[in-house]
Amino acid sequence: MPIWNAELETCSRAELTALQVERLRRLVGYLQERVPFYHERLTRAGVSPDAIRSLDDLRRLPFTGKVDLRDQYPFGLLAVPRERVARIHASSGTTGNPTVGAYTSEDLALWGEVMARSLSMAGVTERDTVHNAYGYGLFTGGLGVHVGAERIGATVVPVSGGLTRRQVKLLEDFGATVLTCTPSYALAIADEIAEQALDVRARLKLRVGVFGAEPWTERMRTEIEHRLHLEALNIYGLTEIIGPGVAQECEAKRGMHLFEDVFLPEIVDPETGEQLPLGEVGELVLTTLTKEAMPLLRYRTRDRTRLLPECCDCGRTQVRMDRVLGRTDDMLVIKGVNVFPQLIERTLLAIPHLGPHYQIIIDRPRGTVDAVEIRVEMAADMLEPVEPARLEDLRRRVEHELAQALGVSIRVKLVGPREIPRSEGKAKRVIDRRELV
Ligand code: ADP
Ligand code: ZN
Repeated sequence: MPIWNAELETCSRAELTALQVERLRRLVGYLQERVPFYHERLTRAGVSPDAIRSLDDLRRLPFTGKVDLRDQYPFGLLAVPRERVARIHASSGTTGNPTVGAYTSEDLALWGEVMARSLSMAGVTERDTVHNAYGYGLFTGGLGVHVGAERIGATVVPVSGGLTRRQVKLLEDFGATVLTCTPSYALAIADEIAEQALDVRARLKLRVGVFGAEPWTERMRTEIEHRLHLEALNIYGLTEIIGPGVAQECEAKRGMHLFEDVFLPEIVDPETGEQLPLGEVGELVLTTLTKEAMPLLRYRTRDRTRLLPECCDCGRTQVRMDRVLGRTDDMLVIKGVNVFPQLIERTLLAIPHLGPHYQIIIDRPRGTVDAVEIRVEMAADMLEPVEPARLEDLRRRVEHELAQALGVSIRVKLVGPREIPRSEGKAKRVIDRRELV
């Protein structure tokens, strides 16, 4: 498969490191001069650009947190005059202010470059038709994929999310070969196809899917691949850094190559902030080495993952990151026990007769103890008239396995297929009603 930027994507570790150090030094000077917030932080840390001689010096630099972005909302971290800002995106911001991403035209060009690398890595060429069902608008998914697909010269269908019946019709009519959307929306499309009893192999031409923007698992990959008859690959990104196109899986399907020449990664202990040895799981921290409008120094993503140091058969030398294994901040405290929704998901998906759709509902009735219920859809094979005793056995088994995995018992309710609301973008897995009571 062609490599979009072979010079950078396959360069030696020594060359890459030299480039990273040079860019980091330049970035520190740039931020010190242009952003009062960073000027102050860098002064406090006692670091000047000449202090950056190797990647080890990265540790001396201050972190940037989500809370800094909130405090500086909307434009406190801009490093260019307002008139040089070409576009603004923002992430959902369910709590408080949304997170802003600002771009100069150079930043938009960089986004196109990393998205072209990503889509090429998935095998997309100018001969492909990309059905882009990521949401268009302030969310970075839609326009991010759009610009990369255009850069490659593919045909883009900017359908955005929603109106699933129409999505299926357009997939068929336009003969799309590539599907891009969230993994949960890929499953919603598969459900619609099943409902119409459409023969995927005969009627659709999909070959590959580039899915991301939310956590998913190997089991979901298998299911999507089987039902949509395509290769499903993972893509990672976040608004603060650029949007999608920070890292992308190649055909080896073992982690996502992270574009290190422009996004410098570290893994740190989320509690202490200390860098962890290569290969260990911790919080991903990213520094944008070449951005102009809103570069970030050591941004704490709150995503838990690890870097996979081995070289890759695809020929790329840039490091791979594992799947996102959870967020450091999405931890639920249930009856005093720390619970990560990812662990719930992994446990549920390992049990036969369950579908991949579930919701965790947390309530605090009458302001007392938290009541948690997990609703999980059964697979279609449990739909045929099954004796209630069998259903109850399955329900008990799910409760038992969850208790084993989490160390706390949680009530489980089995529901029929399609009873859990589908999302057009990111799936909403945790419904926390505690603030409402
Ligand atoms: P938000 O979700 O906060 O509104 P974004 O839309 O920028 O903001 O989403 C970025 C976040 O989405 C990442 O920090 C990560 O938690 C999640 N994410 C993105 N891509 C993936 C992926 N491939 N796998 C798991 N999680 C992902
Ligand atoms: Zn590879």
